[in-house]
Amino acid sequence: MRVAVFSTKPYDEKYLSEANQDSRHDFKFYETQLNEHTVRLAESYEAVCAFVNDKLDGNVLLHLFSGGTRLIALRCAGFNNVDLSAAEQLGMTVARVPAYSPNSISEYTVGLILTLSRNLHRSFTRTREGNFSLNGLIGFDIGRKTIGIIGTGKIGALTAKALQGFGCRIIANDVYQNDELINAGVEYVSRERLFRESDIISLHCPLMPDTQHLINADSIALMRDGVMIINTSRGALIDTQAVIAGLKSKKIGAIGIDVYEEEGNIFYEDRSDEILEDDVLARLLTFPNVVVSSHEAFFTSDALREISRQTIDNISTYESGGQPAGVIHNQAAQASTKPTATPSTVTQR
Ligand code: NAD
Repeated sequence: MRVAVFSTKPYDEKYLSEANQDSRHDFKFYETQLNEHTVRLAESYEAVCAFVNDKLDGNVLLHLFSGGTRLIALRCAGFNNVDLSAAEQLGMTVARVPAYSPNSISEYTVGLILTLSRNLHRSFTRTREGNFSLNGLIGFDIGRKTIGIIGTGKIGALTAKALQGFGCRIIANDVYQNDELINAGVEYVSRERLFRESDIISLHCPLMPDTQHLINADSIALMRDGVMIINTSRGALIDTQAVIAGLKSKKIGAIGIDVYEEEGNIFYEDRSDEILEDDVLARLLTFPNVVVSSHEAFFTSDALREISRQTIDNISTYESGGQPAGVIHNQAAQASTKPTATPSTVTQR
């Protein structure tokens, strides 16, 4: 099948080409993002392979459909950048890679927590400049802390288990409860109670209308003084302006984000020679207790290999007339159903 691949980096080309060993599919790699200005590049390609910051709104999907595209093969887990209703109306198939290596993201999450709890980011730059002072680097033991996990799916569950290994108390909030975690001692609580009781809050739920800006001025007000917030999920779960206010007032003690609500035009490019135009991100980067990374929690060789394998599998299955394993059903996506889980009795606030 002819596939137009957008937002391609050298590593995408390498891993996708390796997974396409038998050259069954004909890939055209474009470095540019997919959006209303670039959509013409996909004309006459039956499949489009897109990534997290490609924009697949109704307008772009309509153009793709007119140009002959019938399959959107996302090489990522999240699908908040795709207008699923529009795709459904057009009869287009949207497939993703729902689970390629949840370990890569959960391990990265734990890494962010440890970095901030022990100021590793500051130690690294200090010693490189010949500064061996410890002043200002006092950390804290996470084993004595309560960690609140919002979203206990694949990544959240692994993160909870990893943190239990440090001796942390884990509380969680999800629309579904994971019995395995309950048996392991995780307590499900309301979102409000999680905000009130957590020393560290880690976000692992998808971006949906009811999770957008779930970290906002009101929820921050409920939190413990000095709370640490970690987001390796999706940027718009956090109202960044509210977080900046929380950092300035010292209500928030530290924040680690791998995702940012306006990351689309910034992340994944070397902008070190440019003036950063995003004043919100620029302000965030001035705080010593903030770590920002460029949506890289997934970025391991294991994950890239598995993403490519499953993406090719989705395309091949579609080409053979079958239903790709990673197909997204619009209704299921909206309801965020999880057939193996127990409906939660936790009240959502
Ligand atoms: P998953 O579907 O396995 O788990 C998501 C969990 O969130 C589910 O248990 C679901 O019930 C829960 N949830 C849904 N709505 C909720 C709500 N309103 N409140 C609380 N919980 C809710 O997904 P996953 O694979 O664990 O991925 C989690 C997130 O990580 C996704 O948003 C994904 O986009 C993101 N992600 C980020 C990276 C990265 O590189 N930073 C890589 C992969 C995935």
